Amino acid sequence: MKGLTHFISAIATASFFPQVVRMSATPGAQIDGAQSSFILALAGLYGIMPDTLDFKFGRFFETAEIDVYPDPRNPDAQAIADTLGSAMDRAIIENREIRIQFHTVQLSADHWRQYQIAFDAERQEVAVVIGPVVTTSQVAFAGTEPDNRVGIYRLKHARLKPGGARSTTVDIMSGPMYGFRPGQDHVLVDFLPWHRTWSHSYVVGAALALPLWPLALWMNWPSAWLYPLIAFLGFSTHVTEDLTGHMGGSLFWPFFRERTRGLCWFHAANPDSNFVTDYIAVTLILFNLDRFVTKLIPLSAPVFFLLFLIGPLLLYFLPRLVSTKPAPKARRQDSVQGVIEAHRRQAAQEELLDESESIVG
Ligand SMILES: [Zn+2]
Repeated sequence: MKGLTHFISAIATASFFPQVVRMSATPGAQIDGAQSSFILALAGLYGIMPDTLDFKFGRFFETAEIDVYPDPRNPDAQAIADTLGSAMDRAIIENREIRIQFHTVQLSADHWRQYQIAFDAERQEVAVVIGPVVTTSQVAFAGTEPDNRVGIYRLKHARLKPGGARSTTVDIMSGPMYGFRPGQDHVLVDFLPWHRTWSHSYVVGAALALPLWPLALWMNWPSAWLYPLIAFLGFSTHVTEDLTGHMGGSLFWPFFRERTRGLCWFHAANPDSNFVTDYIAVTLILFNLDRFVTKLIPLSAPVFFLLFLIGPLLLYFLPRLVSTKPAPKARRQDSVQGVIEAHRRQAAQEELLDESESIVG
C-alpha cells in the first residue's frame, strides 16, 4: 500500500486508545489529560517507517551481480531475455543466489522506453517485450514500439513453478531487482529481494519503538509507556496491511528470515484498496475522536457506520459490480501475452517458409 495509506491507518489504530486521543487534545478545552501530545502523529510516523527504511536506506546496501541496461537507441529484447534466463539457469547450476537488476531506459526528461518481463511456467520460458515510449505519468505514445520487440529464452536448467514468479513492467524511475535461488524442485524467484525483509518484522518494530520509553521518561512526558506502545502498533499496522499484497514480509526477522507470501488480495499500488483503506481509516478516526473527546455526533455506532461507511462504499463499488468491462490492468497483461503469441506464430511461419524454401531450392 502507499505511504499515505499506511500513515492514516496507523493513526486509526492509535485512535482506539481513549487516553491517546485525550492526550492529543489541546489543554484548556476542558478535556481530562489534554496535553497537546504528538502521539497520534508518532503512530503515523512509525506507520510509514518500514517502507522508508527499505526505499531510503536498505536498497542502497543491496547490489546485484548482473545489471541490465537496455540500449536506449536499439533495445534488444532477445539479449535481455538471454541475460535473464541464463541468470536463472546459473542459479541452479552454481547452486547459489543470483541477483539481477533491470534498469529503466530514460530517453529525455519526460520520456522513457517501457519494457515487460514475463515468466511462463507452462512453457518454461522467460520473455521480454519492448514496449512503447511513455511519459513520466506512464502515458504511452501509440506506435512507438520497435519492430523486432520480443525476446524469448527457453530455460535449460531452472524450472519455474506455476505462479512462482511475477511478471513486471519496467518504465519510469527505477527498475526492479530479481533474486533467483535454487529451491527443492524449482528455481525460487524473489521480486525486489531487498524489500519487505528485515524492515517488515514485528520484532524490528518492537526494537525501534522501545527506545521511546526512556526518551519519554527523560522528557517527563506523562504516560511515557504509551509512546513505545503506540509507535509499535503504528509499525505493526503497516506490516499487517502489507500481508494483503503479494510480497508479505519477514514477520519475525531475525528469528525467521524467510519472507512469507502475502494473501495476494491486491497489488500494492491498487487505487481501490488504497482508497478504501484510507476511507475506512478516516471514518474510524472521526468516530473515535468524537467518541472520546468531542461527543458531537448524535448517532449510535451502527447508524453512523451504515451512513458514513457501508453506504458510501456500496455506492463506490456499485457501478463496478454491474459493469461487465474487464479491468484496465487485465487488458494490459492480455496485450503483452498477445504480442508474445503473435511473435511465436510469426516465428513458426518463418521457420516453415525457410524449410519449404530449402526443399524447393
Ligand atoms: Zn511496506
